[in-house]
Amino acid sequence: MRPFQYQHVPDVASAVSTLADRPGAEYLAGGTNLVDLMKLEVEVPDLLVDVRQLTSDRVEEHPDSVRIGAAVTNSALAANEVVRQRFPVLSQAVLAGASGQLRNLATTGGNLLQRTRCPYFQDVTAACNKREPSTGCAAREGFQREHAVLGASSACIATHPSDMAVALAALDAVVNTEGPSGPRAIPLVDLHRLPGDEPQRDTVLEHGELITSIDVPLLGPSTRSRYRKVRDRASFAFALVSVAAAVDLADGVLRDVRLALGGVAHKPWRATEAEAALRGAEPTEEAFRQAADAELAAAQPLPGNQFKVPLARNLIVGVLSDLSGVPR
Ligand code: SF4
Repeated sequence: MRPFQYQHVPDVASAVSTLADRPGAEYLAGGTNLVDLMKLEVEVPDLLVDVRQLTSDRVEEHPDSVRIGAAVTNSALAANEVVRQRFPVLSQAVLAGASGQLRNLATTGGNLLQRTRCPYFQDVTAACNKREPSTGCAAREGFQREHAVLGASSACIATHPSDMAVALAALDAVVNTEGPSGPRAIPLVDLHRLPGDEPQRDTVLEHGELITSIDVPLLGPSTRSRYRKVRDRASFAFALVSVAAAVDLADGVLRDVRLALGGVAHKPWRATEAEAALRGAEPTEEAFRQAADAELAAAQPLPGNQFKVPLARNLIVGVLSDLSGVPR
């Protein structure tokens, strides 16, 4: 690990101004991903500004939404009674990630900003455009089982690792930030980027922009939600494919459907094609299958991850059928 400085600051404004003046500085919260990457010398900050005490560690109920402080730990978020009752999909997604020990340290803000687990990104001897722009992509000719089938580019085929972010994408969450240009409210679906020709940029955040909270609009009282994740082992593994869904069924018709996929793209993938195909439709296995096919028509699987397309289709159909009470 390279030497670095460590600094406490009194408030968010000081943190933002400190980072704005130091291109090599980064924020430290739970550190569950950042410290690992520093040990591997994938991340080499010259200064860590500790923000753990600067943002709220509370979940607050508002009339139309729930506000989650950026410092709420993953364990506290998953166990929160309001979250469990209002957003089962979110609690389930958080519990599907990492291990109990990691969830006790990892924060909500940090979870959204964790970096890909592409093995070549974490190996400083491998070519990787995300870690070191214009050096190539070892995954293109390498191990592709965990890589993207939607929205990838010739520069990068990595996937985003967060389960929580997939649930928040389905829930239309909004990320609140403070940065050198002032406060911003960013829809979660716009926070993360597709790789394009700048895979080194995971998000739209500018240097020094700090996530302070996340707002989650309330679901209708009849809406049911669920998260399901397929992975190579039963715990402490990242998603091969995951599905976050919320369904509002009334009078035998799908009044609203929210659907997001994990493990398939460089960002949480909001399945807008499938949603559009299902709104106002009767819930049937065939309708769910056609909607999944509409979403996955754009998939461009690689030799090593072709299985992800039928896996995603079956997972979508299964989760929507369960939420809608459609027998299979
Ligand atoms: Fe790097 Fe992306 Fe290629 Fe992985 S897929 S080696 S992160 S450029």
